[in-house]
Amino acid sequence: MDDAPFDPPECQDCAACCFAPHDQHVRVTGDDHARLLPEEQARLTVWRGNRCFLAMTDGHCAALAAVDGRWGCTIYERRPQLCRDLARGGPACRHEVEARLPDARRRLPLLG
Ligand code: SF4
Ligand code: SF4
Repeated sequence: MDDAPFDPPECQDCAACCFAPHDQHVRVTGDDHARLLPEEQARLTVWRGNRCFLAMTDGHCAALAAVDGRWGCTIYERRPQLCRDLARGGPACRHEVEARLPDARRRLPLLG
């Protein structure tokens, strides 16, 4: 285990944890679903059997948007608990940065 200090980028310059190579990235619980606006429930969630997830588009969460060259979560105040629990600078953040930051960085100029 690498115990070296980890200093992640600013989240708006990163968004690695909003990317994934599969389409079942962020689980949406009943409470998460209820927090979303009706329009967001319809546009941003998908069901796989009886399980709900945030939709993915182009390899990232459909709620992620690039504005002026920086990433932003368009449902930040209403984002699922899984996203709230991922502490910036923590082990899960480190894993996401190491696995997905290059992909997120590569896409930013295309969307910004
Ligand atoms: S991986 Fe870490 S630094 Fe990057 S957006 Fe997520 S919480 Fe922020
Ligand atoms: S809801 Fe927001 S923070 Fe969570 S994965 Fe989607 S864009 Fe990222």
